[in-house]
Amino acid sequence: MTSSKNGNPASCERGVLTVLSGPSGVGKGTVCSALRKMSAGLVYSVSATTRAPRPDEVEGVNYFFKSREQFQQLIDRDELLEWAEYAGNYYGTPRRFVEETLNSGKDIILELEVQGALKVKRKFPEGVFIFLLPPSLDELRNRSRGTETEEVIRSGITEAVNELKLIEHFDYAVVGDRVELACSRIQSIITAEHCRKEKVFPKIRPWLDEVRS
Ligand code: 5GP
Repeated sequence: MTSSKNGNPASCERGVLTVLSGPSGVGKGTVCSALRKMSAGLVYSVSATTRAPRPDEVEGVNYFFKSREQFQQLIDRDELLEWAEYAGNYYGTPRRFVEETLNSGKDIILELEVQGALKVKRKFPEGVFIFLLPPSLDELRNRSRGTETEEVIRSGITEAVNELKLIEHFDYAVVGDRVELACSRIQSIITAEHCRKEKVFPKIRPWLDEVRS
């Protein structure tokens, strides 16, 4: 039996698609960049966005930064697995990279706001959908305040609380109180996913055929 690239020697070769999502301000970005550093075998899907780069962000590492026209072309050419508008900017997942990564047997993680995560779920129901939770509701309210005007603060809090309600569509819930702990929980979830009998079955089918005959 050949060894899987990604966790369980008995697992068949297609990689696991994991989506990390959760309410605005919960710390998805922080957890995902820590995971990226800790998990050498886990490929990170770099999104396209029309948002302007932040000072420490690098093209092709954090995002592919696009004009609105360029982003529209990606949509028109059906090059995005999903896309969503968030805080006045567009964000989307390049489709080909995700498919090629999975087909090569590597695991991939997508960090998405909640609507995008649900769109991916419709296309990849076999994916693993993880909802990052705040340590408490008060903490979520504080984090989604940002540094904005009263009105923007109010709408941000309402949105984060509404996003919380979408947890029912996810497979796992991980509390993001301590980044390292959250990362190791996510790694464990991915490892468990490789041990699903559906993943292992194609490899052991010949064994079953042999013992049944
Ligand atoms: P930020 O501008 O802070 O980097 O990201 C804003 C939000 O967009 C975050 O919730 C992040 O998870 C989400 N996001 C990043 N890339 C994508 C994407 O490709 N698609 C969707 N739907 N959301 C994304």
